[in-house]
Amino acid sequence: MFTDSHAHLFFKDFQDDLDDVIQRAQDAGVEYIVNPGTDLTTSRQSIELAEKYEMVYACVGFHPHDASKADDESLKEIERLSTHPKVVAIGEIGLDYHYNFSPPENQREVFTRQIEIAQRRNLPIVIHSREAEEDTLRIVEAMMKNQPNWRVNDGELPKGVFHCFPGDVAMAKKIIDWGFYISFPGPVTFGNKPNKPNSMVDVATTISMEHILLETDSPYLTPAPHRGKRNEPANIPHIAKKIAELQGLSVEDVGRTSNFGVHKLFGIGTYPS
Ligand SMILES: [Zn+2]
Ligand SMILES: [Zn+2]
Repeated sequence: MFTDSHAHLFFKDFQDDLDDVIQRAQDAGVEYIVNPGTDLTTSRQSIELAEKYEMVYACVGFHPHDASKADDESLKEIERLSTHPKVVAIGEIGLDYHYNFSPPENQREVFTRQIEIAQRRNLPIVIHSREAEEDTLRIVEAMMKNQPNWRVNDGELPKGVFHCFPGDVAMAKKIIDWGFYISFPGPVTFGNKPNKPNSMVDVATTISMEHILLETDSPYLTPAPHRGKRNEPANIPHIAKKIAELQGLSVEDVGRTSNFGVHKLFGIGTYPS
């Protein structure tokens, strides 16, 4: 059994066949799907999906692309939505300097303010970082120092996940130390070729499975052998198979270990026996 720890089923790519998409995911062994929001509207839609489908869980937050849409009122609403019982994290939040759809300064402020929401609510965060790793790490580290009790209950709770992990092995080790997970989508299946280096493959080979989660980022980032088509959660086994190969584990081990991570991070499912 698997969890798709990051999919966007609210996008209109899925409006015509969502019931089938959910059924195919279940048939492929996907037990849970976590849906991060990207702005206020999609955060609300994410909660509606979580209410409709038992296997779906929601995250609420403004994606860095949409940071310029976030104001005092909408951030207050994100905090209010985060009290819904099926909201498991604040996300996806972070920095994306590849497109700079929102001004970088604005992205940094909205990222910081949403970490504050997560800290007040003692929730984990789902981080999106693209070509902005230095600033992302600097902000996360500063915010952890600000609130040393964030995600500390009886013991230490995981603080979040870096989705579509953008870094190298050194960055992976650092954020694991801080209490974060790494998650890999479809591009990990593309391999590592001399003319097209793929740091995901290095990280997925080097880092212990207990720190790794699986995701599709549907409808984007479709894994091999379905590149070019719409992505959907039923493709998770392709990613699990590739990671199993890199880790020298069975696909079952990859599913069980990553589901344990999902349980610790998001509180979804039961403690595996
Ligand atoms: Zn993302
Ligand atoms: Zn995403």
